[in-house]
Amino acid sequence: MKQLISDLPDNRYAGRRVFVRVDFNVPIEKGQIREDYRLRRAIPTIEYLSQRGAKVILASHLGKPKGTVLPELSLKPVADRLAKILNVPAVKFAGAVVGEPVTRALDAMKSGEVLLLENLRFERGEEANDPAFAKHLASMAEVYVNDAFGAIHRQHASIYGVAQLFSDRLAGFLVGKEMEVLSQVRDRPARPFRVVVGGIKIKDKLSALKALMPKADTVLVGGGIAYTFLAAEGVATGDSPIEPEFMPWAKDMLAQYREKIVLPADHVVAKDVKQRDGLQDVHRAIPAGFKGLDIGRDASLTFGHELLRGTGTIFWNGPLGAFEVDEFADGTVDVARAMALAHWRGAFTVVGGGDTVAALRKAEVLETEMSHVSTGGGASLKFIGGEELPGIAVLSEK
Ligand code: ADP
Ligand code: MG
Repeated sequence: MKQLISDLPDNRYAGRRVFVRVDFNVPIEKGQIREDYRLRRAIPTIEYLSQRGAKVILASHLGKPKGTVLPELSLKPVADRLAKILNVPAVKFAGAVVGEPVTRALDAMKSGEVLLLENLRFERGEEANDPAFAKHLASMAEVYVNDAFGAIHRQHASIYGVAQLFSDRLAGFLVGKEMEVLSQVRDRPARPFRVVVGGIKIKDKLSALKALMPKADTVLVGGGIAYTFLAAEGVATGDSPIEPEFMPWAKDMLAQYREKIVLPADHVVAKDVKQRDGLQDVHRAIPAGFKGLDIGRDASLTFGHELLRGTGTIFWNGPLGAFEVDEFADGTVDVARAMALAHWRGAFTVVGGGDTVAALRKAEVLETEMSHVSTGGGASLKFIGGEELPGIAVLSEK
């Protein structure tokens, strides 16, 4: 296990500057934060350090400004929301990542105070893992903490290069919790262990699926990726999205694990997401000219039945349909609600994936109705897939 912030004696924090990489990449529309789960998950680490008299310097990226200053991607609204969440009058905001305003803000910091830097990706050096930029970030503090699970798979300056410049580099409580829960799912799942996978792009899910397939009791496949599996079985999939490069892999998985893989028996099909005339629920073969855009009613019942069979463990990544459009949201909403019910009955339920978490909201299922909602999409899949994550690896590098 990596060293956690609680492994360092309190006197190493008192009066000292601690650089904390957080993941405050939250959806903001017209200056309004739509969803602040990631901010709330950072509270334990921020308060732990602040209560021990540290000067807490928070740094995050937001969106993809690609090395230029874009006012609409400023973290100022995040500083204001964080102050409300922490129930303090204000969280200081540096307004920049480098330069005079930052130096002044750092000099003015008192023990226990929290300062948020501006969007790290306003600087080109961040994504490039530029050594000079890493050095600049490192010069701000005496202790390095990574609590940015959602960005921990990126080899960026604030995640990787900067950590190498500290002798004290530690994981925050959120990173610790994510690793603990996802390791449990991967290595010690209580049975029956059910995996629900949907969404698109098999490539992103490949390592996780390879790791989970042998361990799961049941793998429920829906969403866009189900069509590659159905096509591999020789079922007519009409104009549904297929990933031909993964057909051989899907065939191989079906050959090895057919008895545990559940594919949807019916589908909500339409000509297109936007062209919804001719909307219908079809069993088996999807006619030419139509796409499968959601699992059908019967598939939804089968999935729900599997999820509510026993308690055990359920891991879910990827919506079961194009849920952003109401007509194609039922399968995803049904799975979210079945998982919440399974959780209340005692199952260990874990959800990962940016779009999947957004889908919970659509289903009106709260984070507290799951055992764990991961703050990392790509990171959670890579962790489960056993891939090395730069931000975790660097914490134990010599
Ligand atoms: P996550 O971000 O949770 O890992 P993905 O990015 O893999 O999930 O997939 C999310 C996207 O998949 C959503 O935008 C959803 O609309 C889309 N999707 C799921 N099923 C289908 C489908 N049958 N046809 C088209 N798009 C789909
Ligand atoms: Mg996604």
